[in-house]
Amino acid sequence: MLQKMRAFLAVDAKNPELIQAQLAAFSKQVPLLYFTLLTNTIALSLTHYNSAPLLLSFYLPCILYVGCLVRIWFWWRTRRRVVPHEKAVRQLQGTIYLAGVLGFCFTAWALALFPYGGAYAKGHVAFYMANTVIGCIFCLMHVRAAALVLTAVVLVPFTLFFATTGNAVFVAIALNMMLVVGAMVYILFSQYRDFNDLIGSQKALIAKQKETQSLSDENRRLANLDSLTDLPNRRSFQFELDTRLAAATRQKRPLAVGIIDLDGFKPVNDAFGHAVGDRLLMAAARRLGQFTSEHIFAARLGGDEFGLIVEGDLDEKALAQLGDAVCTELQRPYHLNGITAKVSGSLGFAQFPTAGDNAAHLFEQADFALYHAKQHARGGTVVFSQEHEREIMHQSRVDQELKSADLARELHILFQPFIDTDTQQVLGFEALARWDNAMLGRVSPDVFIRSAERSGMMGRMTAILFTKALQTAVQWPRGTRLSFNLSARDIVARPTLETLLAVLEESGFDPHFLDVEVTETSVMTNFEVARCNLNLLIERGIGIALDDFGTGHSSLGYVHRLPLRKIKIDRSFITDIGTDGLSQNIVKTIVDLCRNIGCVCVVEGMETLEQVTILRRLGCSIMQGFYFGRPMHAAQTLDLLDTKTAIAG
Ligand code: C2E
Ligand code: CA
Ligand code: CA
Repeated sequence: MLQKMRAFLAVDAKNPELIQAQLAAFSKQVPLLYFTLLTNTIALSLTHYNSAPLLLSFYLPCILYVGCLVRIWFWWRTRRRVVPHEKAVRQLQGTIYLAGVLGFCFTAWALALFPYGGAYAKGHVAFYMANTVIGCIFCLMHVRAAALVLTAVVLVPFTLFFATTGNAVFVAIALNMMLVVGAMVYILFSQYRDFNDLIGSQKALIAKQKETQSLSDENRRLANLDSLTDLPNRRSFQFELDTRLAAATRQKRPLAVGIIDLDGFKPVNDAFGHAVGDRLLMAAARRLGQFTSEHIFAARLGGDEFGLIVEGDLDEKALAQLGDAVCTELQRPYHLNGITAKVSGSLGFAQFPTAGDNAAHLFEQADFALYHAKQHARGGTVVFSQEHEREIMHQSRVDQELKSADLARELHILFQPFIDTDTQQVLGFEALARWDNAMLGRVSPDVFIRSAERSGMMGRMTAILFTKALQTAVQWPRGTRLSFNLSARDIVARPTLETLLAVLEESGFDPHFLDVEVTETSVMTNFEVARCNLNLLIERGIGIALDDFGTGHSSLGYVHRLPLRKIKIDRSFITDIGTDGLSQNIVKTIVDLCRNIGCVCVVEGMETLEQVTILRRLGCSIMQGFYFGRPMHAAQTLDLLDTKTAIAG
């Protein structure tokens, strides 16, 4: 019981929201409370001014007024302030204490006045006390403890005093007052409970709102973030590009869009597993993150592709420098769980406004520059230029002409011999496609093959070329090898390969003297499908040659997983082999690798005697290049073979 009483009278310090709400609600009632108290008190002192001693009718009430005014002044100063929790608790406790003290003082003063004056004046005392206390209890409604203390401090003496006056009217007033106050206390409790519930549900609502807000903030964050690398994602990149491009357009400032693609990521992923691949991407993203600033934004666009937005007045040279710094950083070896992986990043940039004025166009041009970087500056940066613009125009003309071309008539094959330098024998020929078009003249195979790939014509074109190549090859002495290039599209298109096998069978050429040349990159793009399809050819006795070897990174893992007949060392290592020690080392490594796995090593692009001498010293004997013979017409191959007897390579 005592504990319950104490709980009723205490401030619930564990409920800060309630405390603050109580203080705020009470603060609003303070003026009304003191207005009631003071006006009623003035009225009572005036009705007793002539009958009671000055001490009671004037000086004492004055002291009480001053006390009340001090309280009002304090309220005025702090009325709009949000006070810290501890202070709020102290203020509420102070209010309870003050209710007791003031209640006691005013009650004592009023009762002291009672003996003075006539019946009306006495009635006024009872009226004053009842009236004032009811008014004050109402004003203290939100601070239940204070209201209860006041009730007790005033009602108990009031009832005792008036019930014992012996006057029936006052006894009735006392009883009546008890009933009224009892009803009020009841209302007070239920009102306070409602108030408490209201604050509780407000609190729950605010908590719910906060939770919803933080959930939606988190969702927004996640929706814009790449979950693996914590870099912004493609969607965020798109948004940033639109926003920053709009600002750059308004302020007539330049801006550059960059796309980075990791070279050699797929082999690492396939050879060491996805966990290592993921770590590599995270590490690469961290390295890229080092370059970000207010003016450089980096994002992961998906897979092993990243995007950059560079703001600021950077000319082509400065942009290329920045790009090279990024590429150099990405190229440092990655130490992942005891594995050291090496990949490089190729970067294509397109600048606003020179390369384009909208986000989609800039992105396309950056992609084109990236393609160039991958072809000609692997692991480096290419900034989209006027020359690229012209190339795109040319490409679109090629695309158009190719669609309407009579391929069977316009395409033909040139043959480039490969030689065994130990015996000076021609081992065979690589078939190289040529397209002579009435409108465009001669188009480079690099260009029209890509165009055919884009427009979905590759399969048809390959079948025509293969038929033509075989028409010549069947005329060669038995044992002369034919090397035929397959595009990336061909090796993932089973119907194309099945057509080629049918063409081969019909031609009568012995499959054991046929090699198909595939590039590392084309095999890697979709390794499992490529391997499965190539096996179809291997089963017939056709050899697989890995072309342009050494231009992709970390491809050694693949060499072991594909039954290769030949590896062709890329021309780029040969060009400066006389002066470049690194090229010599790479070539030596590849030669040793071929010897270890028992496949034939071919070097292409041999142009000078010096190169031939060096390559022979490094252990290569099978060579191809202008030094030995340029790509030649079918008839010339027969002339050449007439003079040299071919043997199987
Ligand atoms: P590739 O397979 O690497 O072919 C070798 C390229 O190097 C040929 O260029 C050839 O003419 C050139 N070449 C050979 N020896 C030397 C040399 O000593 N010095 C220099 N500077 N170049 C040399 P080409 O004929 O322009 O072919 C370019 C590329 O087009 C080929 O590269 C190949 O990827 C593709 N290609 C050619 N014909 C076909 C084809 O029938 N089918 C497919 N899918 N691609 C083909
Ligand atoms: Ca080739
Ligand atoms: Ca090649």
